[in-house]
Amino acid sequence: MKKLGFGMFRLPLHDLKDQGKVDMSLVKRMVDAFLSRGYSYFDTAYMYHDGQSENIFRKLVAERYSREIFQLADKMPVIDMKGKSPDDQDKIFHDQLSKCGVDYFDNYLLHCLNAESYKTAKSLKTFEYLSQQKEKGKILRLGFSFHDKADILDCVLTEHPEVDFVQLQLNYYDWEDERVQSRKCYETAVRHGKPVIVMEPVKGGKLARLPGSIAEPLFKRHPDWSIASWAIRFAASLDNVSIVLSGMSNLEQVLDNTAFMENPESLDSGDLLLLEKAAEVFSSLPAIECTACRYCVRGCPKSIPIPDYFTIYNRDKISRRNGGGVQREEYQKLSEGRGKASDCIHCGQCEETCPQHLEVMKWIAKVKKVYEQNE
Ligand code: SF4
Ligand code: SF4
Repeated sequence: MKKLGFGMFRLPLHDLKDQGKVDMSLVKRMVDAFLSRGYSYFDTAYMYHDGQSENIFRKLVAERYSREIFQLADKMPVIDMKGKSPDDQDKIFHDQLSKCGVDYFDNYLLHCLNAESYKTAKSLKTFEYLSQQKEKGKILRLGFSFHDKADILDCVLTEHPEVDFVQLQLNYYDWEDERVQSRKCYETAVRHGKPVIVMEPVKGGKLARLPGSIAEPLFKRHPDWSIASWAIRFAASLDNVSIVLSGMSNLEQVLDNTAFMENPESLDSGDLLLLEKAAEVFSSLPAIECTACRYCVRGCPKSIPIPDYFTIYNRDKISRRNGGGVQREEYQKLSEGRGKASDCIHCGQCEETCPQHLEVMKWIAKVKKVYEQNE
């Protein structure tokens, strides 16, 4: 199987304020281009696109292509299931099969395991439940996506040697980052003999949009490589990586990714050195490390579009703009009909949910200062 997977979580939208309003005709062209080039792996989840991603997969893939053509990964939303019952788990799993229009999943994952959600999975006996589904043939391979430190990963893999693979946030920027621990987690998975599926190879799009001064040396070295391709090549070139997921948002990205992943050249030591330097410079910029996964948004009691605010904050900080004039107007527009940063009631839900372990409330307060108070 080719190493590139189609992540169905950053699909193009008709309305940027509504994650459920996906541009179906564009996604249809993207899916068709992906499959026609011999790629086959799709990744969805219960919570993506306000619960619509699985339905979109059914309409555009399962109902239009035969089952042998594609491979599908879906996930149990354990991160959202604190206080739920094993019956809820069973209902969700069967809902997912029907929403996706399939009889079985090729890969199935516990979604977003960390120290906290692992406790939920233990109390619901999620591993045991999913192993039963595997025995019944409803799951071919069982795994989990993971967002915590390497020692927690070691503990989960030691207690659950039955899993077939792990999905890790792995990119050159987070490789040595102490919060994400990409390298340490990767090495832990390898030590346990588990194949790795890579998520966030371009860190929510950040590594595809490097500021000019950081991107320039990369362009000079390989003028025909897109900036995003550097990040995907880095992940794909690691031993033990079976799939690299890309959350593609337009046709150009599908065409670029599928072209270079057809026969990806490995990175040499000079390339790796450049990436190390790029990561070093990029990490010194005053940006919030949000990957725009939107996990925090669903539970925000004030409907604050947290990652949308962080996106403009990062862009303006990196280009040294102060949030006045046009930027303030943009913020006003973004906040119409939704919560403003100043509406935050400090309930802490976002920080409990954030897989990047960000101090979301601190950053929301900064957004408020920049765009509402102009400080
Ligand atoms: S702390 Fe603020 S931003 Fe975070 S979920 Fe609560 S209200 Fe929303
Ligand atoms: S703040 Fe955290 S949970 Fe929210 S979108 Fe960003 S990375 Fe995801």
